[in-house]
Amino acid sequence: MLKNLEYCLITDEEKQAMFNRSLSLTTFDYECGGCARRTHARIIARGQDDITGNFLFWCYCNCGQPTCISRSADSETSLQWPRPGEFKVGVNWPPDLIRLFSEAAISFAGNAFTAASLVCRKILMAVAVDQGAADGGNFTLYVDYITNTILNYPKAKHAIDAIRKIGNEATHKIQFVDHADARRSLRICQYVLDAVYDLPLA
Ligand SMILES: [Zn+2]
Repeated sequence: MLKNLEYCLITDEEKQAMFNRSLSLTTFDYECGGCARRTHARIIARGQDDITGNFLFWCYCNCGQPTCISRSADSETSLQWPRPGEFKVGVNWPPDLIRLFSEAAISFAGNAFTAASLVCRKILMAVAVDQGAADGGNFTLYVDYITNTILNYPKAKHAIDAIRKIGNEATHKIQFVDHADARRSLRICQYVLDAVYDLPLA
């Protein structure tokens, strides 16, 4: 149960009302899980959990993504959802792949690791088709196309095969992907996308 819930709005009238009530904190600094940038975001509402004593802040970044932050009463520890963005899109990636990769990154930041790894499979399929693979094939053919045609050196094949295995487990069995494997899938996708779209323009 929340107590002392406050809505921290920011029009001149609202600011005056907050000033009258001696409220001062209306923004929060954190790394946004939506845009992966450091942000000085508005606090939309805040309150205190009467069981844990933690303060909860609902924040709104300029990028349009909300974030919820829980901070201990002594300010020593804090957690946030979605978590800070670890993965960043490349400037030269195609818009659809930016959107797809962002979905995977947001899923990962929201602890949806199985969903993130499945999107990573889709990213590889989309890259393969964008780079000339025939549409409508199965996933193995797309991975083979990438490792044989686009990134055809042995160490890349080994890494991309890891995504195939992680994605296969997520697709064909009810078996959840853990944090480490989802993170690995995203890192590999980031390398592939950078190599295909950013490296040639460097
Ligand atoms: Zn943001």
